[in-house]
Amino acid sequence: MVMKECPRCGETIVAPAYVKDVVHKCNSDDEFSNYEDVVKTGTYVDEETGSSVEVHNTNLQGLGPGEDGENYLTSRGNRKATHRTRRHYEYVEF
Ligand SMILES: [Zn+2]
Repeated sequence: MVMKECPRCGETIVAPAYVKDVVHKCNSDDEFSNYEDVVKTGTYVDEETGSSVEVHNTNLQGLGPGEDGENYLTSRGNRKATHRTRRHYEYVEF
């Protein structure tokens, strides 16, 4: 067995000795590390529901602060209008 700490979330990753790398799903107490924001560029599959989500407006203009209401930013400070939040998977080499 080999063990290594995830550089992103700090969780200990345990793998069989022959494993050279893993894709680790960040799963710490820290919600900021567990998730990441990505720009909505087109249709994507929602991991939680497994369903396909169509993105109609891929116009990325106006990335600055908007007037979309109070709760328009993700917890990482990106606009919900242009970004979606997904689970972060960290590539870790042993
Ligand atoms: Zn991690």
